[in-house]
Amino acid sequence: MSDGTHLSNFAGDKQEWPVYMTIGNQSSKIRQMPSTHSIVMVTLLPIPIKNSNVPQKQLDEQRQTNREVLNEVLRRLLQPLTFKQNPGTESRYYNVLCADGNFRHCKPVLAAWLAGCAEYSDLHHLMRDVCVWCECPKNELRDYVPPDKQHRRQDYNVYRTLSDANTKAANAELSSRHVHQGFNVFRHIPCIVSDLLKPDLLHTMQIGMLDHLDRWIFHYLTTHERLDQYNAIWSSVPAYYNLTPKNTSYEEVSQWNGKEMKEMSWYLLRVVTQSQRGGSPAQHAVFNHAILRTRALLEIYMYARYKSHDDATLSYMEDALRCFHTFKDVFILGWAGRMAKAKANALRMELMKKRKVDKETNAQAWTPSKKRGEMIAWRDYISHEIGVSKELDADFNFPKIHSISYWVKPIH
Ligand SMILES: [Zn+2]
Repeated sequence: MSDGTHLSNFAGDKQEWPVYMTIGNQSSKIRQMPSTHSIVMVTLLPIPIKNSNVPQKQLDEQRQTNREVLNEVLRRLLQPLTFKQNPGTESRYYNVLCADGNFRHCKPVLAAWLAGCAEYSDLHHLMRDVCVWCECPKNELRDYVPPDKQHRRQDYNVYRTLSDANTKAANAELSSRHVHQGFNVFRHIPCIVSDLLKPDLLHTMQIGMLDHLDRWIFHYLTTHERLDQYNAIWSSVPAYYNLTPKNTSYEEVSQWNGKEMKEMSWYLLRVVTQSQRGGSPAQHAVFNHAILRTRALLEIYMYARYKSHDDATLSYMEDALRCFHTFKDVFILGWAGRMAKAKANALRMELMKKRKVDKETNAQAWTPSKKRGEMIAWRDYISHEIGVSKELDADFNFPKIHSISYWVKPIH
């Protein structure tokens, strides 16, 4: 597993990207006990310097070099595991010195690799903001994927063949599948690469979907003028059992960690429900949708945390997923994702330039009061246009919302 970590802002950006290894066929109870030291850090991956203000061509070349460097480190790291010279056997079994001093006949297989979505894309030469499990088109990431209608899985054998061919047609095919050309060590290891990634509670749910849910609810309640009630109820949730008492309102916390998200999931539904009490009959329908979608997403998270599953619990999880996707648009009002915000910012820059030209052109003709009026009109116009742009582009097209559609199968 690997987990890029931001360490500090105080003395420049300090980051680390450690890789850990463990042995899969030991009990998870032993593996999860810190005192057994069964998870070992084996290397730190290189983190490239962020380039800004360089021409696009140079940036692309630098990124290609970064991928090659990362890949070389991974190749050296994984080589002893997978390409160990072992004359005499063709089956890749070899004698391994174990912790108890005995040698055992072993066949190591890379079985899983836990990482965040963006990190996983970097490790496997996929482009950003695409699904790492399947070839779902970027503009369909928001949609619910029923178990019998899942998209074609990422086929790393095909990517390897196309990358090795390195022809114009092959590279175009790779681009259309959102894959970067080049040697990637994972495609040369005897394993099913698309099965390496496993459902990940921390990255996908706690600091992923639950974080999104929080922000959707915040925008949603602002739009429906219920934020004051929400903050009041939020702050009054009592310390109970092992729940940490809250000294701050929701707005005052800039970033949540996994443990806080887990605690928040215990009371969020009650706070959302209570803050929407009263209102007109027309509002009730909208409020009910919001409550049901909140409940469904929290249920998916709760089910995913079960220590064991059967067909019934997995079907409840699938039902909750379906319920979440139906009417999730209730949260879209006032919400804009990263892409929509970037587009809105570009529009803002363009309109600011137009305002500047207008101001300079009419500098002589405008009286001071006329100038003030024009500038206010410009400000209102820009703010309106930005609002419209965000509203039109707001959507749920991001990989995490899509990836939970693929959780039931690996758990099964
Ligand atoms: Zn997918």
